[in-house]
Amino acid sequence: MKKTFVTKEKLQEIIKEVPTPFHLYDEKGIRENAAAVKKAFSWNKGYREYFAVKAEPNPVLMSILKEYGVGSDCSSLTELILSRAIGNTGDMIMFSSNDTDPYEYVYANELGAIVNLDDLTMVKCFEDAVGQFPKTMSCRFNPGGIYQLSNGIMDNPGDSKYGMTEEQLKEAFTIMKSKGVENFGIHSFLVSNTLTNDYYPELARTLFELAVRVQKETGCHITFINLSGGVGIPYKPEDKANDIAIIGEGVRKAFEEILVPAGMGDIALYTEMGRFMTGPYGALITTAIHEKHIMKEYIGVDACAANLMRPAIYGAYHHITVMGKEDAPATETYDVTGSLCENCDKFAVDRKLPKIDMGDILYIHDTGAHGFSMGYNYNGKLRSAEVLLHEDGTWEVIRRAEKTTDYFATFDNMPVYEEIVKGIPNADK
Ligand SMILES: *Cc1c(COP(=O)(O)O)cnc(C)c1O
Repeated sequence: MKKTFVTKEKLQEIIKEVPTPFHLYDEKGIRENAAAVKKAFSWNKGYREYFAVKAEPNPVLMSILKEYGVGSDCSSLTELILSRAIGNTGDMIMFSSNDTDPYEYVYANELGAIVNLDDLTMVKCFEDAVGQFPKTMSCRFNPGGIYQLSNGIMDNPGDSKYGMTEEQLKEAFTIMKSKGVENFGIHSFLVSNTLTNDYYPELARTLFELAVRVQKETGCHITFINLSGGVGIPYKPEDKANDIAIIGEGVRKAFEEILVPAGMGDIALYTEMGRFMTGPYGALITTAIHEKHIMKEYIGVDACAANLMRPAIYGAYHHITVMGKEDAPATETYDVTGSLCENCDKFAVDRKLPKIDMGDILYIHDTGAHGFSMGYNYNGKLRSAEVLLHEDGTWEVIRRAEKTTDYFATFDNMPVYEEIVKGIPNADK
């Protein structure tokens, strides 16, 4: 059974001041996990996790991770600015973008970020934009074909828009070496949300063998290998969680078998996890406000896909707990829906749940990564607040909910909206 990290009483206390819907984060869980990640790779001298900012771009949460030595993995100007704002600059930033606007390279370089080029054509693009190369550069690798793990998980890098072939990567390295680059990194991201302790070790093996070939053939000094993201979390109750300690040991074994004998044991390992760092430690808190009985049974809640898009776009499963009914039998079959004028706006389809009464608080699990951050304003919906539950049970709003005035703020020539929304109930909700 999946557990909530907060009690119904605590939620009722928060809701008195912060109306639903909102995303709630568990500081204790984030800290314990960040410490476990650090420990799992502590055998590697240069190890660093670069948190994928896109997963949960909140400065308070990023600052908590920073206490564990975690840097920022950015892919846009805004994410770079956010990282700088929490004090991550220089080699604390990995800039892993694609289809990049040249001005973003300029700012990344100004911050001293490590730039990870997605494509061979980006070598010239970077040079044209920035003028010269820094001492350290990285390139993203795409092995092509079908990537299959020993346990059967497959993905299709041959159909992926990211990364360079081995030949392209060698060419990029050779060009950059001739232009003064001294330290090289290799990066690859092949499969998303893997639920196996084998993914990182198998990817590491692929990249370590590649690194040995590349260093031998190009003479480029490879100083780091970035395993990127993709370590998954158990969204479903029957899923088995990854064990980061076992994953770290698996990578160590590959490191000792491949890199150490090749005289490359000084290579630093980097990771760029998003989902694994914060995913399980966030929940979308929402209230049941309507029920409909048509061909199916529907429960309407006050959150919608604009607060959590994953079910609508990937059909992703997010577990739901009805607060106070944790032990009640799941006698009903519901579609749990939001209010968007889109039929995909359903947090759950044909879900077995206990009988839901209007006013019940629903806890939608595992929204701590790619949850709030994918939010959008369709149907004029406003982004929700984010609340952090501290270890001692106190809590803090770490991002206020958007107001209608925020929505109208980009209509520069229509200040009249400010006047109109004044006095409208809930317009400032
Ligand atoms: C999304 C992304 C990540 C993080 O992926 P998770 O699956 O959340 O761990 C890391 N690196 C890059 C380049 C990404 O695009």
